Amino acid sequence: MGLGVCLAAAVAQASHPSGSPERKLYDELNALRVDRTRIYHVRQFALRRDAVRLVFEDGTLGLLEPFHGRVLGAVFSGSARVLATPRDPAEKRSISRFLGAPLVDTPVSKVYLRFTDGTAGEIEAFLRSSAARPVDDPELLSDWNPVVGTLNPSSSLRTLRDLDSSNPLPFFQLALSGSQHGVFEVSVDDRRWEQVLMGQVKYREGGRYYDLWAMFPRSEGPGQPEIAAPVRYSIDTTVQDDLALRGRARIVLRAVRDGEHIVPLILSRELHVLSVTDTTGRQLDFFQNEDLSEQEILRRGNDVFFVVLPEATRAGQEMQWDVEYGGSVISAAGNQVFYVGERGAWYPRPNDSADFCSFDLTFRWPKKLDLVATGKKTEEHEEGEWRVGHWISDAPLSIAGFNLGNYTQASVDAGPVHVTVNANQQLEDALYGLFRSRPGIVAPYGPLGWRRTEEAWQAASLNASISPPQPAAVIGHLATDIGDALSSMEQWNGAFPFARLEVSPLPAAMGQSWPGLIYLSTLTFVPKEAQQRAGVEPRARFSFSDLMPFHELAHQWWGNLAQFSSYRDEWIVEGLANYIALLYLDARQPSDHILAQTLEEYRGDLQAKLPDGSQTVDQIGPLALGQRLDSSLTPKGYRRVVYPKGTWVVHMLRMMLQDPGAKDPDVRFRGLLHSLLEEHRFNTLPEADLRQELARIMTPEMDLEAMHSMDWFFDQWVHATGIPRYSADFKVTQGAKGYVIQGMLRQADVPETFLARVPLYRTKSPGKPVLLGWVVTSGEETPFRFSSPVKPDHIVIDPGHTLLAARE
Ligand SMILES: [Zn+2]
Repeated sequence: MGLGVCLAAAVAQASHPSGSPERKLYDELNALRVDRTRIYHVRQFALRRDAVRLVFEDGTLGLLEPFHGRVLGAVFSGSARVLATPRDPAEKRSISRFLGAPLVDTPVSKVYLRFTDGTAGEIEAFLRSSAARPVDDPELLSDWNPVVGTLNPSSSLRTLRDLDSSNPLPFFQLALSGSQHGVFEVSVDDRRWEQVLMGQVKYREGGRYYDLWAMFPRSEGPGQPEIAAPVRYSIDTTVQDDLALRGRARIVLRAVRDGEHIVPLILSRELHVLSVTDTTGRQLDFFQNEDLSEQEILRRGNDVFFVVLPEATRAGQEMQWDVEYGGSVISAAGNQVFYVGERGAWYPRPNDSADFCSFDLTFRWPKKLDLVATGKKTEEHEEGEWRVGHWISDAPLSIAGFNLGNYTQASVDAGPVHVTVNANQQLEDALYGLFRSRPGIVAPYGPLGWRRTEEAWQAASLNASISPPQPAAVIGHLATDIGDALSSMEQWNGAFPFARLEVSPLPAAMGQSWPGLIYLSTLTFVPKEAQQRAGVEPRARFSFSDLMPFHELAHQWWGNLAQFSSYRDEWIVEGLANYIALLYLDARQPSDHILAQTLEEYRGDLQAKLPDGSQTVDQIGPLALGQRLDSSLTPKGYRRVVYPKGTWVVHMLRMMLQDPGAKDPDVRFRGLLHSLLEEHRFNTLPEADLRQELARIMTPEMDLEAMHSMDWFFDQWVHATGIPRYSADFKVTQGAKGYVIQGMLRQADVPETFLARVPLYRTKSPGKPVLLGWVVTSGEETPFRFSSPVKPDHIVIDPGHTLLAARE
């Protein structure tokens, strides 16, 4: 039976001391099987949960054995149908992309149901009202019981959380199997912000993905699943000689919900929890590496463990636990270069989302190495073979981190901010190898290195051995550049939020920005000329050497001063950080036109066809789908959409806010950035707040719907896909005082309702385009009429590229 195999592809289950009451209940939940005395023939029985409807048309329903008197699950074989119809157009389009129709309406033959909501009562009521009699069905038992045995663990902990809570947030979960879509999942879970979810596990080209067809809040509004928020952390970490990490975190949390006995914490699965102790010295039970639903594992990883509290939480109450853990999150990349992995999960924290609070970090590490960390270093000393250092946060941090290496340093002061660039002494093995051998095309390869493409090997010139560059050679320049950029970005963003900035290398094809601590790809530490000699292609050189340092720098404001609040808003900080970086690069060397050129490349990227030729990159999905853009259909969808389109969206906002006649044409845009950062200082920045702030400062010309809101803009550019294509026909007639230009602006490739304010220019050679005026589109064709003192040769649509529109 496919259902069991797919849904229960196992997560290794750690062995645990048995004996605690929760552990016993958990084992009992796993052991539940179909109750042989409660199997029924059912016809036309429907369950409805928000936008989901499950109809048992004709078949056999078996209840799971009661758990302490309560029915928590059932199985069904026969003919059933599941229907799901989200209201949100973006969710409809998402479903359509995966299933070819904007709703789920599909027959299924097998259903595994788990619930802590009122489902059991509904089933009982139906059985009573239809006077159903139990039947003997050994086949159902032999079919289902092995499957139930493998599926149960994925919902046992979830069930236990509700059973243990005096204030439960129930769930309803279906694993379904049908001929049309195979095995898939539908669930409505009040322990999610967006309670309604449908999707499935997909395998493609060796990768395993979770295709999230749709996820959205219940019609009553989003859930409030948060149990606790962090107040402060005090973390003691030892990095051993063999790079193993041993940690002891004292975490103080404030409960925000009453009645909970089980509190989830995020921690890398690579780190094994050894003990959890409360302030009285009592050892608390915990669950780690238990089976979770595949959806949870594939979307977020199994990086979560659950602390069992002897007493229920009380909202407002502070809880303090000492958590001890150990494992391996650092790996050696060769030549004394280290990859610090699990940068967001190396200590236990209650939420994925940003919670700004204080940190006190102590590290102990081999004395031959250097360690940098978030916060202010208050001291460092040697103890035998060890070095010990202490860092405290002097501003609220949403996350803490560290990096490790054998560093050479260069420092500059950017005003009051002390900037230090740390470089490895050597290139890691993978990069070193590139320069030792022949040039070729370098492509990122996994988190730890680089590879040459096959063609590059073949095309490589014969004996052109290159002496490997020294990463430390660039740090002087890099420090000066970053210091310069920091001061320059303050004009856009206001004062740098931290007293110091550490920049450090990561042997990977990526950068990351933690408060006051930036990770840059080791390729950023290789001069561009050397990259070129090694065959790194031009756009990658631009990305690693020019864009990445300043993109990550801009994240110090957009990400570390104001952070995104949910996956749906991540584009805001990405778009802003990238745009600010491009503004800096553009101002540094105006003759290079880096902003215009990059926007042009991004436009091309978004218009590029996907490999199957059916759709463009833009059509992968709207910005507001965030990480959901990654799926089996487009494994790198997030990256391909969010950077180019997020940057364009910010650019369009700036262009609309620009006042070309003013002394500072960007005074409104600058004001927007300032007030967003001021009002969301060390806090989250949801899209709703961005919309509100824009509504406050928008010009009358931006109010295309006359609603005093920018909703039209967000609906089109953030919550939908589509890039308009414009063309114009016109004729010129001579009037009494010059020429009259009459014509039609055509808008294609977007829905008829798409709104835009399109600037039209006239040209007459020789000479620059001159603005005629704007046309606010209404439908596929919008007539226009302008007057002009000269007779134009041509009309040019938006020559200044203020709008993301398709290139002809
Ligand atoms: Zn970024």
